[in-house]
Order: sequence, then C-alpha cells, then structure tokens
Amino acid sequence: MSYECWRPPVLYWNGHPFCTGTVARSALERSPVLYRNAAGASQFITHNKILPLRAMQLPDIIVIGAGPAGLLAAGMAASGQRRVWLLEKMEKPARKLRITGKGRCNITNTKPWNDFETHVFPLPRYFKPAFMNFPNTALMRFMEAAGVPVTVERGGRVFPASSRAQDVAEALVRWVRSKDVDIRCHTEVLRLITGNGNITALEARINGRLQTLPARAFIVATGGLSYPATGATGDGFRWAEAAGHTVTPPYPSLVSLKTVNPPAALNGLALRNVSLTLFIEGRAVADDFGEMAFTADGVDGPLVLRLSHKAVDALRQNKKVTLELNCKPALTNEQLHARWQRERAAFPGAPLSALLRKWLPGQLIPPFLAQAGLPPDKKTAQLGFGEQQQLMAAFHSWKMDVSGYGGYERAVITAGGVSMKDIDHKTMRSRKIGNLFFAGEVLGLHADTGGYNLQIAFSTGYLAGKSAAGI
Ligand SMILES: Cc1cc2nc3c(=O)[nH]c(=O)nc-3n(C[C@H](O)[C@H](O)[C@H](O)COP(=O)(O)OP(=O)(O)OC[C@H]3O[C@@H](n4cnc5c(N)ncnc54)[C@H](O)[C@@H]3O)c2cc1C
Repeated sequence: MSYECWRPPVLYWNGHPFCTGTVARSALERSPVLYRNAAGASQFITHNKILPLRAMQLPDIIVIGAGPAGLLAAGMAASGQRRVWLLEKMEKPARKLRITGKGRCNITNTKPWNDFETHVFPLPRYFKPAFMNFPNTALMRFMEAAGVPVTVERGGRVFPASSRAQDVAEALVRWVRSKDVDIRCHTEVLRLITGNGNITALEARINGRLQTLPARAFIVATGGLSYPATGATGDGFRWAEAAGHTVTPPYPSLVSLKTVNPPAALNGLALRNVSLTLFIEGRAVADDFGEMAFTADGVDGPLVLRLSHKAVDALRQNKKVTLELNCKPALTNEQLHARWQRERAAFPGAPLSALLRKWLPGQLIPPFLAQAGLPPDKKTAQLGFGEQQQLMAAFHSWKMDVSGYGGYERAVITAGGVSMKDIDHKTMRSRKIGNLFFAGEVLGLHADTGGYNLQIAFSTGYLAGKSAAGI
C-alpha cells in the first residue's frame, strides 16, 4: 500500500471522528494517526507501518506545562483512570517552583477563606470553588502525605519544614509518576488544533521534531510571563486568544518599583525593620513593615513586593504614586525626640552625619540628610529648633515618587490572563471549547505574596484535572 497520498475512510480518536480526507505522507511521518479498519479494530498508521492500538499508547488527556498547576492537574486527571501525558518544554518539571520563596517555597497560607479571599484578585469568587475543592488545609495534608512535612511561620505562611523548595517539586513529581502519568520534558507545544468546536490535537516539538498529538481533553497550565527563564513565555495566552477567549492584557505584578531620581549611593543597600506607606493620589492606601532594598533604579524586597500590586494598578491608570519610608517605625515621635535630645546633649560637638551613625546605616546618611535638606557637617548643638523638627520628621517620612515598575524578568507573577468570564470556575473548563481546561497563572487570577499564588496554582490544577477526568 502506498501512503504517498492516502485517503482513509475516517480517522477516529476514542470513537470520535478525528480527521477526514487525504493524509499526506509527510503528515504521517510527523505523526502517526489512529483509524478504525474495516473490521472495526483500531490501528495506527505511520508513513510505513500499520501498528495495533496497544503499540502506541496515546493519551486521553494532555496537560501542557509541568509547573505546580500542571502537576496537580495531571495527577488528578490520572486518578480518574485516564491515560495522561504531561508535556513540559524545559529539561525538567517545575523549574519556577524550585526557586519560589527564595528557594524555600511558601506553599500556601493558613488563612481561612474569609481572610484568604481578601488577597485574591480581581474577583475572589472566581477562585472560591477551586479553593473549596482543594483548600489550604487539604494541600498541607497532601504535602505531608507526599513526604514533605510543613511548618507555619509569621502571617500564616506555610513552608516545607526542610526549607527546600526542591523537596516540594520532587515530591509532586514522585506523586504524579506514581499515578502512571507520562511526563515528557523537552516537549514544546506550539499550537492547539481545533475542529468541530473542540481541540482535536496539538502540535509539539519533541526533541526537535514536530509531532501532532491527539487527545480527548487538554489542560493548559503554561503559567504567565514572569521569570521567562523558567519556561513561562505566555504561550497559553496566545492559544487561548486564538481559540476565541478574551485575554485580559497581562502585566508584571509583585515587582520592584522605580523611583524618581534614585540616589546612586543607595544601590544595593538593604534595610530591615522599616515600614513603607503607599500613597495613591496623595491618599494613604496601604502600609507594611519588614525588609526592603534600594536598587539602581528604585526599591525592591519583600516589603516593596507586598505593596507593589496596588502601586502597579495605580500606575497603569496614570495615577500619582508615592512611597513614604519610615526608618524608625518602632519609635513614636516622643521617643524619637527624647533619644535625640539625650544624644545631642552627650555629643554636642559631633557633626550631624557622625551622630546619625548611631541611628542609620552609614550608606544611608548622605542621601537621608540631602532629602531632609539638612547640612551634614553642622554640629549637633548648633542645629536650630526648625532643623531638629525637620530631622525628626525625616526619620518617619522619607517620600519617594514612584515612576514605574520592573519587567517580567524579575516579577514574581503575571497579572491579567485568560478572562475568568470565559471559564466555568466550578470546573475550570473553557466556556468556548468543551474539551479545553485552564489552570494556574495562565488564568486571569492573581494574589498577594504570602503563599496565595501557589494555592491558586494547586487548587485550580486539582479542579481542572478532576473535571477533565470526569471524577
Ligand atoms: C522568584 C519567584 C518566587 C515565587 N515565590 C512564591 C512563593 O513562595 N509562594 C507563592 O505562592 N508563589 C510564589 N511565586 C509565584 C508562583 O511560583 C507561581 O504563581 C506559580 O509557579 C504558577 O504556577 P503555574 O503552574 O501556573 O505556572 P509555572 O510555574 O510558570 O509553570 C508553567 C510551566 O509550563 C511550561 N510551559 C510553558 N509553555 C509551554 C509550552 N509551550 N510547552 C510546554 N510547556 C510549556 C513552563 O516551562 C513551566 O514549567 C513565585 C514566583 C517567582 C518567579
């Protein structure tokens, strides 16, 4: 039989017509196809062989992206006795998960839903069914059962007791493998192929070769655009749009902020136990306490990331955004004044910049005095009443105008994504295409720092896998 140009009666996949018409030899070389022969038996045709069905174990469900969302989706889908493939373009699964929480992985947060939901955007109700199916408590039990004991830290943040994100990633991979999921790395999905209102197959580059893979259902868990070196390059957004979904324009969130005229001398300086207040159009909208760092073009660090979500949203609306640094949040005005008067009396001849070494890191002092408008060399005893007031105010209020935010290369998450209006949030199934599901950061859901984003990935992955398998 020649396959140069061969017209099978009908090609089937799991009983559904898969494709009809002429099959070119080149297509068969790229990808074997399934058909039912005259006797009703399923067979695969390659460009030079006919293989019985069992020779080619094609999947029922294909999950694209082996991050936390894809791993949970694949494991759950396989729990429903489905044959599942998990395709990952990088050399190993969960590259990003392995660097989360500075290598410690803040898995989730213990807050009950009523508190948890205040950290989820744009609308927490879109996440509620997924959370209820696989809540933070269930995730913690799951981790323990998978061999990763967890510990709870300040603010309800949950970490592996080993403080190793690698342990979380490896435990998830072990769990997925234990469900007989076929994990295929070095497999980059290029596009989804539609037909009769469904996704019939996908095209992938597998170890450099193009192949078409059919399946009954597809779960897209390709993440967003942040930290592209981990594999997240926004492919899912493009496929979703091509398949008729609305994709809310993505943007970096939980990200460093750029400030106007950042003092070069401060680049690299980290501050602990300080507080920041975020002002939008002159109104204080949030404040927080902790660690921050100065960068070449602004500010970064956990404290800044926590405030960045509101700051970025405001900047995108062209609103005026200002940060106010409080270098001495633990001291009230009265305590600050009392300490100053004591030290001024003890060292009346000391230049102001020298005395401040007892208060602030040396690197901070010149820019601190410059922004407060105070002369660094003036002796402390010679400072007038007004100058002392200026100094006290500067400790509690160092204003920095925010001009922009960092890019995807350093952003913890991507906000925006596949609109939840196009997703049935009780199942994670697309409202546009019946056999297509989405999970994780590709969705138009995001959250604050504190373990909330990984919970979104785990819960939506769990629900998508369960729904795709029909369990
Ligand atoms: C530095 C950093 C630290 C973080 N720390 C925390 C934390 O401590 N706690 C927390 O809650 N959140 C944290 N996050 C956020 C969290 O990591 C993400 O929200 C989460 O990883 C999203 O999971 P995901 O599975 O949706 O996407 P990802 O983890 O991005 O996984 C997507 C996967 O899909 C693969 N892929 C993409 N396109 C294709 C394709 N075409 N074909 C095949 N495969 C493809 C990618 O290679 C990738 O492996 C952190 C993020 C960063 C960047």
